Amino acid sequence: MKIAKNTVVTVNYKLSDAQNNILEDGQEPIVYLHGGYENTLPAIEEALDGKEVGYSTVIQVEPEEAFGEYDPALVRMEDRDKFPSPLEVGMQFEGVPEETGNLDEPHIFVVTDIADEKVVLDGNHPLAGIALRFALNVAEVRPATEEEIAHEHAHGAHDEHGGHQDDEGGDQFRGFPVH
Ligand SMILES: [Zn+2]
Repeated sequence: MKIAKNTVVTVNYKLSDAQNNILEDGQEPIVYLHGGYENTLPAIEEALDGKEVGYSTVIQVEPEEAFGEYDPALVRMEDRDKFPSPLEVGMQFEGVPEETGNLDEPHIFVVTDIADEKVVLDGNHPLAGIALRFALNVAEVRPATEEEIAHEHAHGAHDEHGGHQDDEGGDQFRGFPVH
């Protein structure tokens, strides 16, 4: 069947930057509900709309269509004593960006440096500022269930729906949510 609104699409992918450095080799496919539910990047939906199993393509997505430009204002320094111990580079914390105007949604900040009394946090998405190249291959297309349409996301084949949370679509990287 053709990919259309309210179909669930399984797509194998490889993600690289514009220089073809592999960023993710797609060990697990993207599985998303098609039709503007923001389960995946709009550019991916656009490329796959109307296509069928076996369709392959490569698309390039500019930062503004993906995870945004790198924003230096999202890098901030905090006192070490505000954080738990042990603290390591790479740990993530949720916080509200301070000087981004009316934006008050919580943001994930990653610890990028720890000096004596200070901690450097970066609230940019790891893929911010990078032009992304997706090699896509459609593996499966099926009609969405009523429940999936009601939830506005795909349910996995092995997912009993007991384990996943339905709030705010999550920020998991796997599905490439826009925000
Ligand atoms: Zn659900």
